Amino acid sequence: MTFGNTILEQCAVLGAISEDPQVLTRTYLTPAHRRAADVIAGWMRGAGMDAHVDALGNVVGRYAGATPNAPVLITGSHMDSVVDAGRYDGLFGVLSGIAAVGELNRRGVRRPFAIEVVAFADEEGVRFGFSMIGSKALAGAFDTGWLARRDAAGVTLASALATFGGDADAIPDLARDPRRVLAFVESHIEQGPVLLDGGHALGVVTAIAGASRVRVTVNGLAGHAGTTPMPGRKDALAAAAAMILAIEAHASERAATLVATVGKLAVAGGGAINVIPGAVEFTIDVRSGDDATRHAAVIALRERCEAIAATRGVTLGWDVVFELAAAPCDPRLQDAFARAIAAQGLAPVRLPSGAGHDAMEMARLAPIGMLFVRCGNGGISHNPLETMTADDADVATRALVSFLEHLDPATLRH
Ligand SMILES: [Zn+2]
Repeated sequence: MTFGNTILEQCAVLGAISEDPQVLTRTYLTPAHRRAADVIAGWMRGAGMDAHVDALGNVVGRYAGATPNAPVLITGSHMDSVVDAGRYDGLFGVLSGIAAVGELNRRGVRRPFAIEVVAFADEEGVRFGFSMIGSKALAGAFDTGWLARRDAAGVTLASALATFGGDADAIPDLARDPRRVLAFVESHIEQGPVLLDGGHALGVVTAIAGASRVRVTVNGLAGHAGTTPMPGRKDALAAAAAMILAIEAHASERAATLVATVGKLAVAGGGAINVIPGAVEFTIDVRSGDDATRHAAVIALRERCEAIAATRGVTLGWDVVFELAAAPCDPRLQDAFARAIAAQGLAPVRLPSGAGHDAMEMARLAPIGMLFVRCGNGGISHNPLETMTADDADVATRALVSFLEHLDPATLRH
């Protein structure tokens, strides 16, 4: 039995633990969360770890280091899911970590650092509308005011936590001492097609992309669709359409470092078939692994949209509504993952992560590293069509074992 087959079987077991019998949906503090947490804790114990479910519902397994006071390296990912999810997003990083520690345990390897595998309770943020609750708590960034947040049914986080068997009073104690944490590393399916298209099973993540989100308003002049001649119209929707294509073109010219998406578009009042659209609102989401590239892009996109607005006689409103800095992966951890990949006979390619991950929060605490694993089906994720092969799960876990076995903690002192 390879690591890969075991992990895929475990993904199938956990994939059946859902709050919806038809599809996989496992959100925070539900009975499905509890059942899955208990199963994961059992597997951690089977791999030679002490395991418990913490005050917020994270599952934490600990494999002691060679000395009692050794610092800790934390690995893992999340155990919650989106609605109608795939099986591998998040869980792969948990199960691969458990398998890797199980292998070290089987061989009697103890490192000069303890290894903890964490299954974070909430990364996706489906239930309470804010994300990465588990990793925020470990990183010391949990705001107890969030306990009053309510889910769609009106249940507060505090009340859901009590029902689950958590302990709100103990949340501040979950925060780790940064001086004791050597690093955080996360294995995750890529959730995109880059490795698949390049023919690579594994990749080293260079940075988790930062994001800027802009709400754009275009104001023109509504008019009668039949009586207003074409010259001199101030059609807000036609102007927005030109802007959207310009945004796409700008990002396409810089596709190696940037992505930009217009995901929402609304004509004021819903629009009417016989009215020239007078006002339109749309959103832009810009992401890059490099903050300077992203900031420059937002400025350039605004200039292009303003130029289009001027040509078409409409006015532009531009509101940056969200900014998130990129989280660079530590170069020393990147190199250590590259060596671990090369040790499997594979080319250590590097790529940024366009999606957010728990590692972004854990970066407050310690240097971070990420290993990406190829997913199939065109890279689709957050969808039941999400796939990975047993061979890829296997080689990723062997690379993680090699990484854990050879990492020199002296190079990471921070
Ligand atoms: Zn994920």
